[in-house]
Amino acid sequence: MQAVLNYDFHNHSTCSDGTLAPADVVAVAARRSVHGMALTDHDTTEGLADARAAAEAAGLEFINGVEVSVSWRQVSIHIVGLNVDADSARLQAGLLGIRSGRIERARRMGERLDEVGVPGAFDGAWELAPVKEMIGRTHFARHLVNTGRVKHMQEAFDRYLAKGKPAHVAHQWAGLCEAVDWITSAGGVAVIAHPGRYPIEKSEMRELIEEFIGCGGEGIEVVTGSHSNQQYAEYEQLAREYKLLASRGADYHGPGESRFEPGELPPLPTTVTPVWEAWR
Ligand code: AMP
Ligand code: MN
Ligand code: MN
Ligand code: MN
Repeated sequence: MQAVLNYDFHNHSTCSDGTLAPADVVAVAARRSVHGMALTDHDTTEGLADARAAAEAAGLEFINGVEVSVSWRQVSIHIVGLNVDADSARLQAGLLGIRSGRIERARRMGERLDEVGVPGAFDGAWELAPVKEMIGRTHFARHLVNTGRVKHMQEAFDRYLAKGKPAHVAHQWAGLCEAVDWITSAGGVAVIAHPGRYPIEKSEMRELIEEFIGCGGEGIEVVTGSHSNQQYAEYEQLAREYKLLASRGADYHGPGESRFEPGELPPLPTTVTPVWEAWR
């Protein structure tokens, strides 16, 4: 099945921190012969209508998505919601709550950068953020690349923006169960995004998964642009052990910024249950 159908359930647009408009992300996926995709912008469903219209015109299956920012034990975790009803009042109220505060956080990030000898970064990031309330670390990273402060995005995070680095400003996002509740109450499937990326021990990963399942979470990304081959195998095992639905997504942010283009990833292992079984 996977050999035939190419689904990608993790992509970003200019509605959050991607560089392409929603319809243009769909166009990239369509050009690459992706059969179905989700747009999963951070903390907003703003781009879904445009993306859906573009997908319908291109003859591509479209799944509503959102990537919710969560604070779990001092770690930032992302929970992707798939097949959500974007009109859900509960989902929208929750997302609105975590979107607010980004501008203030960005101002503080700008101050921190100023203090370590990088002036003007807030203004630079502001210019690069199409939706001001969605300003985030990616916009700062692009500004640092554009101004030659760092060679690439990764270096911007390693030197300035990652947790423990000078411009990192802690932020209170949604609670884990809260995020899962917003998604499931909107009829969606909650999926742990890029689990291999979190700075937590293996034992804590199990605790995260168990807590997530306890609040109604059903899926986990197995094949993502953030995982190594070894991590594909590791999370395949965890998906099977915990009977989680397996998702696949590039975490595409635009041309030249992501390891994989939409749908370019390896297929899901045949041993796991693909997440789309939940709504097919
Ligand atoms: P924020 O929501 O403002 O904390 O920004 C988080 C975003 O930063 C993620 O969604 C990624 O797009 C990006 N990001 C986080 N870590 C890295 C990294 N090491 N390299 C490149 N982008 C990253
Ligand atoms: Mn992002
Ligand atoms: Mn993420
Ligand atoms: Mn993402």
